[in-house]
Amino acid sequence: MMIFRKLARASALFLFLALPQATNADLVVLQYHHVDDSTPPATSTSVSLFEAQLQMISDLGLEVVNLNSGTTQALSDTATDINQIAITFDDAYESVYTLAAPILEQYQMPYTIFVSTNAVGTQGYMSWKQLEELANNRLVTIANHSADHAHLARKRGESEEHWSNRVDHSLDAAQKVLKAQLGSSETLFAYPYGEYDTGVEKKVRQRGWYGFGQHSGAIGNDSLGTRLPRFPMANAYGQLGSLKDKLLSKSFPVAASELPDSVITRNPPHLTLELSDKLSPDHLTCFASGIGRIDFTLNGSTVTVQAPRAIPGRRFRYNCTHPAGDGRFYWLSQPWLNLDAPED
Ligand SMILES: [Zn+2]
Repeated sequence: MMIFRKLARASALFLFLALPQATNADLVVLQYHHVDDSTPPATSTSVSLFEAQLQMISDLGLEVVNLNSGTTQALSDTATDINQIAITFDDAYESVYTLAAPILEQYQMPYTIFVSTNAVGTQGYMSWKQLEELANNRLVTIANHSADHAHLARKRGESEEHWSNRVDHSLDAAQKVLKAQLGSSETLFAYPYGEYDTGVEKKVRQRGWYGFGQHSGAIGNDSLGTRLPRFPMANAYGQLGSLKDKLLSKSFPVAASELPDSVITRNPPHLTLELSDKLSPDHLTCFASGIGRIDFTLNGSTVTVQAPRAIPGRRFRYNCTHPAGDGRFYWLSQPWLNLDAPED
């Protein structure tokens, strides 16, 4: 028994030494739509799951922070060595006001609501009065999710001029209305459907905004301010069994600026990663949406990930994880956008 214990301790020590230790603090952003037991399951988190998720954050001793300052800290790597969490809601659905807000008030956790301004006051969405009440709550940040919730990437056959005017209007009209109605002038933007291309990213960068997507992963100093990840928290993704790994995940140590545009030019797309000395191909695991674990090829320190067959649908992802020491994982998600697939 004693020998076994010694061996176990020795192998634990070996693992501890062999794997790179995570030291940088990262920001993990959670993305919600509805918090409701009666709305569509694909975009809803049940009230009981939502409460259990907040309780887990609290039990792990993780601080929930303001999205803007937390992102700035994580990108500049000036935070402490404990992950921070930010909570976000897209679309300003009514259930966020009626069901989620009172629970967040109990926990005294800050959160951000990304508002698509044309929808405010329509069936199922919050009214301006409700938004105003929340905007006056010190826990709440109200930010831009476009005016019309359009697909912002440049469409096949769309002229540069038409695309540019369309996107400028959608971004700026929403910003103007949020300022006029609520006095809000946040510099945070959530891409509708999580869709963007390098042209949309450029517009977000030119305005000095952060751009948030719907691909998973933590934000760290290798992340890029216009393609920031968030973990989807709807029932199918936010279950407690995998939540701890997400909350404690680390930003993947590959510069996000080196990763490709989301828009695919062939299906299945290639993802090429240059492995730094923090990463070993032996410990890398990659997955593709709807397929599961996929293989990669290695050439020197260059890894090429490609699904074995074309992936249907408009949006899909490749996710890769790698142990980061201390039981944590580096987490990478590459979003892909197939412009030939129909819009939803
Ligand atoms: Zn949305």
